[in-house]
Amino acid sequence: SRSEITYFGAGPAGLPTSVLEKAAEALVDFGSQGLGLAEISHRSALATSIINEAKADLASFLDIPDDYDVIFMASGGTGQFAATAYNFVGSWVARKHKEIVGDSNDPKLIQQLKETVDKDLKLDYIITGGWSQKASAEAQRLFGEEHVNIVADSRKSNNGIYGSIPDESTWNLSRDSALVYYCSNETVHGVEFQEFPKSLAPGPDGKGPIVVADMSSDILSKKIPIRNFSAIFFGAQKNLGTAGITVVVIRKSLLSPALPQPSAALMRQLGLPIPPIILEYDTIAKNNSLYNTLSIFDVYIAGQVLKKLLQTYPNKVEGQQAVSQKKADLIYGALDAYPEVYKVFPEKTVRSRMNICFRVTKGGDTDAAEKAFLDQSTALGLTGLKGHRSVGGVRASSYNSISLEGAEKLVKFINDFATS
Ligand code: PMP
Repeated sequence: SRSEITYFGAGPAGLPTSVLEKAAEALVDFGSQGLGLAEISHRSALATSIINEAKADLASFLDIPDDYDVIFMASGGTGQFAATAYNFVGSWVARKHKEIVGDSNDPKLIQQLKETVDKDLKLDYIITGGWSQKASAEAQRLFGEEHVNIVADSRKSNNGIYGSIPDESTWNLSRDSALVYYCSNETVHGVEFQEFPKSLAPGPDGKGPIVVADMSSDILSKKIPIRNFSAIFFGAQKNLGTAGITVVVIRKSLLSPALPQPSAALMRQLGLPIPPIILEYDTIAKNNSLYNTLSIFDVYIAGQVLKKLLQTYPNKVEGQQAVSQKKADLIYGALDAYPEVYKVFPEKTVRSRMNICFRVTKGGDTDAAEKAFLDQSTALGLTGLKGHRSVGGVRASSYNSISLEGAEKLVKFINDFATS
């Protein structure tokens, strides 16, 4: 039964049982109206109130300022690889158009804009694991390699293997890039940025590069300096809710009316692609996430998770952050205590608090040792620990639904296995 299992899966992750029980009721009959939340119209007042409440609770928990909007999309994290590239290229072109063309109809100025695009349009990517690599590959597919600048790639200084974050002094940032993209926590490779990169920080005038981050696997687990970002996005299925909705937090000055996206006709003249309408942030934001049918049931679950977090932690995300850190310290501490038995993949300074990736080398036969580790842990109700198929080993995902007691059970097993 659920109470006997501690599920360390990397995503979808476990959800609080109390939230699922409430959601199960809401799926069948919400508020005794004879209809469930997967059946009600997304155009109803109830749908809008569920969306607005989830937005407000997210803003409260993460301390998102008023000049940022929160939108829900059905894209998945992977859809955001395309959405971020499309939308921030659009914003870059809109800015350049203002500067170079303004209100003029002079074809020479459009030609000049096109030359600027060809020469200067750059999308910057910091690659620290499989997910940021995939995002950069998507940008290359959509805009061409000539427009994508790899700022740093952690495999280069580490024999082709992920597990570090290149020193910022080696980063090759473009001037005036359409976006600088990074993934704050690499779910597969267990690498997490411990703090906001110094070289991307805004200057004293508050101005800085256009920074965009994928926070799919560490959102709601630590305090974020939201104002340093133009946008952050995350799939719901780790710390927020069920797979099916993806959240984008975006600075309003990048949306209409401040900065509308360029017209399709202009983008065609410039030889640039435009996004499918369902990936256009401006359109989704203008419609309060209801441009097309959104899964209100998934938004409801996310909203209930947020309510539970707000009830549990009076000091909001900082309360959760303390618990997340404590769990990670306990688990890494146990692994480090037996260097002959366990080898954590990533460098110590970049270890993820969320996805703890290691090999089991006990007795010298890693395959056999890992099989024994996984078989024995599963038998004890510690499940979902198998590493990602591309890297093998063991991965303990310590998302918010893993309690301190759950982490302590794993720690006890790590100790017992090492000494048995
Ligand atoms: N980014 C990160 C950091 C992820 O962990 C994942 C999925 N686990 C994705 C992006 C892709 O998300 P999705 O499967 O929702 O497309």
